[in-house]
Amino acid sequence: MSERIVDIFENPLPSYSIEVFPPKPNLEKTLEIIFDTIDRLKVIDPSFVSVTYGSGGYNRERALSIAGHLIQGAYRALSHITAVGYLRSDIVDLLDQLYYLGVRNVLALRGDIPPNLIFPDTELDRFRYAYDLIDFVKRDGRFCIGAAAYPEGYADSGDVDLSVLYLKKKAEVGADFFITQLFFDNARFYRFLEKARAVGISQPIVPAIMPILRNTNLKRILSLSSTSLPSGLQEKIDRFGADPLDLEKVGIAHAAKQVQDLREHGMKHIHLYTMNKSKQIIEICRLSETVSKSEGR
Ligand code: FAD
Repeated sequence: MSERIVDIFENPLPSYSIEVFPPKPNLEKTLEIIFDTIDRLKVIDPSFVSVTYGSGGYNRERALSIAGHLIQGAYRALSHITAVGYLRSDIVDLLDQLYYLGVRNVLALRGDIPPNLIFPDTELDRFRYAYDLIDFVKRDGRFCIGAAAYPEGYADSGDVDLSVLYLKKKAEVGADFFITQLFFDNARFYRFLEKARAVGISQPIVPAIMPILRNTNLKRILSLSSTSLPSGLQEKIDRFGADPLDLEKVGIAHAAKQVQDLREHGMKHIHLYTMNKSKQIIEICRLSETVSKSEGR
């Protein structure tokens, strides 16, 4: 088994990977929740596990501990690292620690900027953009590097051409593969992919799917990203969204159709934002193999 995540995308068979998040400040409880989720998701045989990192920098030890546990559990770990919250010298230490733990894959991000933080600050020696960090990790030479892609543009502009331009920059300095921001409209992903290929980006671009499971969660996503809802989905949410269980059914059915449609369009590998909800994620994978091709389009 290659340690480099980018090699997985050579596999002609369909595969999944999963993202989990550390929900609690208490490390013991966090590990319990994360590993319970991962254990339950073994039935979909995830090729790698990525764990989000709150970019305030305060939970570095926790992130390292989670990565170490993943490696000990023989999982291929994708460790998120962020420019926000780290000085350059911190990144040097972090990469050493990750490598020592056995991590060989990182997702190099600018990171979300916490509300109380001034970023970029001019006085401190920090990486400003994800591509600066990618460039640095590439020169380090020890890691396979993933980066973020935005099929509907960055949250602050929603400009797809701009996001393709910055994607190219990430590709040029050494990103080995990309994972997208969540999206609900596959057509937008296909258009983005076409644009990326047209400007010469040849690295794998992995589509990532997140089901709508809660109204609050949906509102948060829509307010923090440039993700749009296709009209059919919006209608279903308007019709069934008042009841949490009905909304969950709508969300699962839509995500399953997205997965099935992506497979039909040749996307062999799909990343799933699990929100630590194993039951619903398993249902999506199961349904995606059974939904009829004509249904709901
Ligand atoms: P960049 O691509 O560097 O973009 C950051 C900003 O800089 C954007 O406004 C962009 O327009 C601008 N920009 C980019 N390149 C240039 C350039 N060459 N010249 C001028 N301006 C430029 N956040 C977390 O905090 N923790 C996580 O664990 C995490 N995981 C994520 C996983 C995935 C798959 C994705 C898609 C996002 C994730 N995020 C995470 C969110 C991400 O950190 C935010 O979306 C952040 O705002 C941008 O990060 P980036 O790495 O894409 O940055």
